[in-house]
Amino acid sequence: AHVTRVTAMGELAASIVHEVTQPLTGIVTNGNACLHWLGAAPPNIEKARTAVKRIIRDSDRASEVIRDIRGLVKKAPPRMEPVDLNDLISRTLTLANNEMKRNQVQAETELAADLPSVLGDRVQLQQVLLNLIMNAIEAMSSITGARMLTIKSQHLHDGESVTIAVRDSGAGLDSQGAKRLFDAFFTTKPQGMGMGLSICHNIIESHGGHLTGANNADQGATFEFTLPAHQETSDRVDMATA
Ligand code: ADP
Repeated sequence: AHVTRVTAMGELAASIVHEVTQPLTGIVTNGNACLHWLGAAPPNIEKARTAVKRIIRDSDRASEVIRDIRGLVKKAPPRMEPVDLNDLISRTLTLANNEMKRNQVQAETELAADLPSVLGDRVQLQQVLLNLIMNAIEAMSSITGARMLTIKSQHLHDGESVTIAVRDSGAGLDSQGAKRLFDAFFTTKPQGMGMGLSICHNIIESHGGHLTGANNADQGATFEFTLPAHQETSDRVDMATA
């Protein structure tokens, strides 16, 4: 029991580091950019204002993550609400926009018009999307060909579920690691923590779904998760989550 508890705390600590480092890095970068624009002659107030807005956005994100971790420690149940995944995809791409520009990644979406909502914790589901997108960008950072990120949402009518696929044209999964992708601390990156996919996997499973990853026939990899569609008309589902 002690080992389990210590491991769980270690995973939690690692997940805090993983999720908070990103916005903190953004805050420092934009803080420096802001100083730069204010110090220009004449000062570029518009650019400085944009940098400050990004600082506020990243700070909000860090606070959200910390609020969430606090919730996890208190063992609070996730806040379940109907989530529009198409909307969440668009908003998450906006978050990743800088990183995509910096890495010359082109993003494309194929969003199903008839996508039902899913019942879930918006912040957690956004963490999953962001993790998959950041992994895809990293997997493409070393290739010389076109860097294409494609996010597709689909409504599967058999069994009423929703599938989101994040496809990249990167280096692909290495054959050794393919089985261990979702293990905590499995990483092939020198600076990697190996927590991202393990956290994504846990989040999707706790939402009653599943997450898989595989190489594409041509190039790169696709990570795909499926979640049950939310039956808006069913009282039973609403009762169960009230
Ligand atoms: P980290 O990114 O810190 O390594 P993750 O759990 O997010 O941790 O990923 C684990 C490993 O899975 C990565 O080190 C990499 O080898 C592999 N991986 C994840 N996403 C991709 C991808 N889109 N393309 C190729 N390999 C990937």
